[in-house]
Amino acid sequence: MKLLVTGGAGFIGSAVIRHIIGNTADEVVNVDKLTYAGNLESVAEVSHSGRYAFEHADICDRPEIDRILARHQPDAIMHLAAESHVDRSIDGPADFIETNIVGTYTLLEATRAYMQNLDENRRNRFRFHHISTDEVFGDLPHPGDTPDADQYRFTERTAYRPSSPYSASKASADHLVRAWRRTYGLPTIVTNCSNNYGPYHFPEKLIPLIILNALEEKPLPVYGKGDQIRDWLYVEDHARALYRVVNKGEPGETYNIGGHNEKTNAEVVHTLCDLLAELCPRLGGYKNLITHVPDRPGHDRRYAIDAGKIQRELGWTPEETFETGIRKTVLWYLDNLEWCQRVQDGTYQRERLGAGI
Ligand code: NAD
Repeated sequence: MKLLVTGGAGFIGSAVIRHIIGNTADEVVNVDKLTYAGNLESVAEVSHSGRYAFEHADICDRPEIDRILARHQPDAIMHLAAESHVDRSIDGPADFIETNIVGTYTLLEATRAYMQNLDENRRNRFRFHHISTDEVFGDLPHPGDTPDADQYRFTERTAYRPSSPYSASKASADHLVRAWRRTYGLPTIVTNCSNNYGPYHFPEKLIPLIILNALEEKPLPVYGKGDQIRDWLYVEDHARALYRVVNKGEPGETYNIGGHNEKTNAEVVHTLCDLLAELCPRLGGYKNLITHVPDRPGHDRRYAIDAGKIQRELGWTPEETFETGIRKTVLWYLDNLEWCQRVQDGTYQRERLGAGI
């Protein structure tokens, strides 16, 4: 197969590309605009492969997307390109509307035109896989509010109730993808995944931010009480799940992907402090750097995924526990501090984003 991956220079897209080139015989075309979040170093370990190609392009640019599809003739599209940081969407929603909604619309239309020129056999096998988030569902009851909270999980039938400009833009994109399936018969598949963590995560996100601030002995910011619950999945498990879905998933279906690892943000920060104290001992440890800061406006309280469908129907389960994945992650950051420095240079100094007005 030849897979066209959008956003392949980002955190999850690069993990998908490293997985495909490293573990399969498939070819990959990486289409990325290289925003502040995109970095080709994240695919450097596989980019020498003859099965890898890069196209520097904006998914909102229809003539460019038409040219790329005509040139590379992919068998499937894995669409990950997005503006992805909730805090940035609070400060400036425009880019989120443009890339996440208009960009997805542009890709859908370009794909529809491209498919008309495929022979019947290739058209029947073609897939448009849209990668989305569990944040489209809004938040779940929190154990602090109700004793039966753990009975609630997001399933593929949960109604959409997004809270932030980011999640609303992703929800809009999901709706467009489903409409293009129903109206035009496009062979689309949607996946909604929980919070990812692992190597090559841009340092604005919680886990790398805490690791890097701790190593520089800077405050470790925790939003509000730190009791917000997320369901953490190691990024390489997500990449394996996405590859399974694009190969074996049913067109028209949705699959939820999650790690069965519900943790409060405070627990995650404490775990990171413990690991760093073991791997990079500091007098007094790291927990005394924890600083509670005003909460994010509209902050969702709890996410948790029921990943039963992808397990039953496609046989996918995560390989990493939170404990094994978080240790790998910390070790990776300790070995790759120069990557962290380079991706932040000139664009980001780990300042507070999205505090609201
Ligand atoms: P990321 O911000 O790390 O990477 C996004 C990539 O998209 C970057 O390489 C960027 O350059 C590229 N990009 C942005 N705008 C573009 C445009 N207009 N044209 C072409 N390329 C563009 O994001 P990520 O964390 O890797 O997330 C990838 C996808 O997975 C997103 O769609 C996100 O909504 C979804 N997702 C993320 C998580 C998570 O925990 N990070 C969880 C579930 C789903």
